Amino acid sequence: MVVTAITFKLQSVHLTHTMIVYKKVEQLSNNIEKLKKKGLKIGFVPTMGALHNGHISLVELSKKANDISICSIFVNPTQFNDPRDYEKYPVTVEQDLLMLERSGVDIVFLPPVSEIYPACYNGDQHYALDYLETILEGRYRPGHFQGVCKVMDRLLQIVKSDNLYLGQKDYQQCMVIKKLIELKGFDTKINISPTKREENGLAMSSRNMRLSEKAKQDAAIIYKTLVFIKEDIKTGSVAHLKDWAVQSLVSAGFEKVDYVEICNADTLELMDEWNGKTPLVALCAAFIEGVRLIDNMILQ
Ligand code: AMP
Repeated sequence: MVVTAITFKLQSVHLTHTMIVYKKVEQLSNNIEKLKKKGLKIGFVPTMGALHNGHISLVELSKKANDISICSIFVNPTQFNDPRDYEKYPVTVEQDLLMLERSGVDIVFLPPVSEIYPACYNGDQHYALDYLETILEGRYRPGHFQGVCKVMDRLLQIVKSDNLYLGQKDYQQCMVIKKLIELKGFDTKINISPTKREENGLAMSSRNMRLSEKAKQDAAIIYKTLVFIKEDIKTGSVAHLKDWAVQSLVSAGFEKVDYVEICNADTLELMDEWNGKTPLVALCAAFIEGVRLIDNMILQ
């Protein structure tokens, strides 16, 4: 398959196998209506592009359980609290389409901002995320999860998937989207897939493309630190483990650590003490070479 510049000027393109690329909501919606009428089951993998094997693992899961798999590529401006982060977000559309074609995805949705947020679209609503957006990513990225809900609300209304595929890499985001689905009554089932890692343990991320080779090696300390917490955690106080973890990241070259937290895995309540029974997850966010990385690990 040859993807040319012309490909991206077209509104929908038929590539060598049956993968179709849509840029217009109306065209995608018309096709989805037909697929639904035929009773076909739709799996949906929303992404912001700059794809890696973590994204492809979600596509593979979707392909196993659905008749049609749809992947969206949309760098959503409303979820970036820092405009510089939005400007620097990697965009690799041609390579993404090649990877998706090889993965066997059926439909790619590649809309411009004006299709997702047209002037006539009323996107001013507030999503009642309550506690979920006051902690961790919500605390350090104000407005981020409102933006995530805004785009997911729109995408789920368009795609009408039976199954939605999300990565555990964005643990809190999975909980936020679960809440959005409850709030809005979407009839889609969430499937959460484990985090794909590089050989050294670094969680695959589109943002890793902005790191030097040295930083990619140094950043593997996140995984090692999470594994240490998992192996070392005991009942009683867990505060010392969080402090130790922050120091461990700083010593390995992280300029700034937003948080290392140990939380109730079901509610994300922040824990300083553990009773030995509550299911736990450790989560962190830290900057290296100016790039903000997040990761997490379920502790039992
Ligand atoms: P993003 O393009 O970063 O918005 O991610 C799109 C989807 O891929 C989200 O559901 C992410 O949680 C998931 N994802 C990102 N990185 C990974 C990874 N390393 N392993 C598995 N899933 C991932």
